[in-house]
Amino acid sequence: MKKIIIAIDGFSSCGKSTMAKALARNIGYLYFDSGAMYRAVALYCMQNGLINDKKIDIETLRNRMKDIHITFEADPETKNSLTYLNGVNVEHEIRSLEVSQIVSQVAALDFVRSEMIDQQRAMGEQKGIVMDGRDIGTTVFPNAEMKVFVTASAEVRAQRRYDELIARGDDAKFQDILDNVLQRDHIDQTREVSPLKQADDAILLDNSDMTREEQMERLMEIFKNLTA
Ligand code: C5P
Repeated sequence: MKKIIIAIDGFSSCGKSTMAKALARNIGYLYFDSGAMYRAVALYCMQNGLINDKKIDIETLRNRMKDIHITFEADPETKNSLTYLNGVNVEHEIRSLEVSQIVSQVAALDFVRSEMIDQQRAMGEQKGIVMDGRDIGTTVFPNAEMKVFVTASAEVRAQRRYDELIARGDDAKFQDILDNVLQRDHIDQTREVSPLKQADDAILLDNSDMTREEQMERLMEIFKNLTA
């Protein structure tokens, strides 16, 4: 069966990663989380004093980009993909609200995006991958054979993110999360470089009222039609 590239884009916290991971597992493809790469750059800024008063020291970050290496490795037990920043596993740290609050600003910088996009394209060279993000079907892989654009209402997305943070033991307030979701939507949609938007040839999937099983059925149907 021919291998293809699957691009899953959409708004923050609409379950893209969970969906993309499960799809990759079902069809034996590799999964890449492009958001994790921007989160790792944001964490690097936090760890290295490049954030002051919620503002990024852009020039220092520009000079340091060549020192930031992001890789993925499979967890030996769960087989889930783990994000490494300069050789250190940062999978837990990059999911914090502090990182979420700064990541969209980092991801709006053109030199950050061009570096990440080069790395993402290299990951797709062999095909047989599922990558999720904001600009995968529009900018990173405009020729991806399968493109899905996922959305859900802001309240549903904030609730899912809140449940996730509480489940891992973080202290979270629903309103803070909803504000963060809305703020990230705004920055992602209005930035100059690769703004979040549905590719013309992407299939829209609103999962506000869908179960995970229904969602997977729909994805498998799209995949089978494209690879039959
Ligand atoms: O997907 P996730 O919410 O983890 O992504 C974190 C942030 O990274 C997003 O809010 C967005 O600002 C940015 N991002 C991006 N382009 C991508 C993936 C993520 O700008 N392809």
